[in-house]
Amino acid sequence: MGTQLEGKRALVTGAGAGIGEAIARRFAGEGASVLLVDRACDACESVAGAIGGRAFTVDVSREDEVAQLFQACDEEGDGLDVLVNNAGIVPPRVDAEAMDMALWDAVQAVNVRGVILCTKYAIPLLKKRRGTIVNMASLSGLQGRRGHSPYSASKFAVRAITESVAQEVGGYGIRVNSLCPGTVGTASMHTRIATRAAKEGRDPDELLQTEFVGGAVLGRVIEPDEIADAALFLASDAAGAITGEHLRIDAGRR
Ligand code: NAD
Repeated sequence: MGTQLEGKRALVTGAGAGIGEAIARRFAGEGASVLLVDRACDACESVAGAIGGRAFTVDVSREDEVAQLFQACDEEGDGLDVLVNNAGIVPPRVDAEAMDMALWDAVQAVNVRGVILCTKYAIPLLKKRRGTIVNMASLSGLQGRRGHSPYSASKFAVRAITESVAQEVGGYGIRVNSLCPGTVGTASMHTRIATRAAKEGRDPDELLQTEFVGGAVLGRVIEPDEIADAALFLASDAAGAITGEHLRIDAGRR
């Protein structure tokens, strides 16, 4: 337990599982009042119950739901200190020649439209407290890989949004940064690896080691708590002079 976010109000999207859950738990442990947002309400409510936060069932790609969320947030408290745009989906690999355009649109709707929508409605609240935004990009937002064009395109867009918005709101003292994680050991990541391994007739551990861990100089996956540590740093006063920046947390993967 710490006090780095004592008295702060933080909203985390995709907080019902994985990295978002780890961030919500860490922020609450540092004294923040946390608003947890997810489209999966049971998971989100259970995490909120465990940390004394408040759960909101919202699909971040829907403007009506996002507008209502921030209206409720504004009515319940004065402004917002931290927005973490973490909600995102990681689609299965697909080459451009076989692209399913419904899948393409679904990925961009959550990973890109969801980020700009929450940003749009959060800015008036962030202005009241010289708040900060942490966007969840990815190593895939720094380099493309075979079969990853829908996801990579969405995460390159998140970095572009980060840089553009940082310039727009810097005059209000609002900082905007992104995190670029490598392979993080969430349950959903392990499910994706298992599904792909079954499809390719491979062992999931061999697939993980060969294609994900092997290229990282530290030779391991990253824990969700390690991404939460980095989110806390960017959200805290320790990063008070950092904006428009992208922080890799990739165990040295290249
Ligand atoms: P996850 O699937 O474990 O959790 C994502 C959460 O977001 C889920 O609770 C889900 O219900 C929620 N969500 C999905 N779509 C939503 C929507 N439209 N509205 C509201 N909530 C929604 O995923 P994760 O592995 O924790 O990844 C979280 C973020 O980190 C994503 O943006 C992902 O792209 C990014 N990321 C993950 C990894 C990794 O290896 N796990 C690496 C780099 C970046």
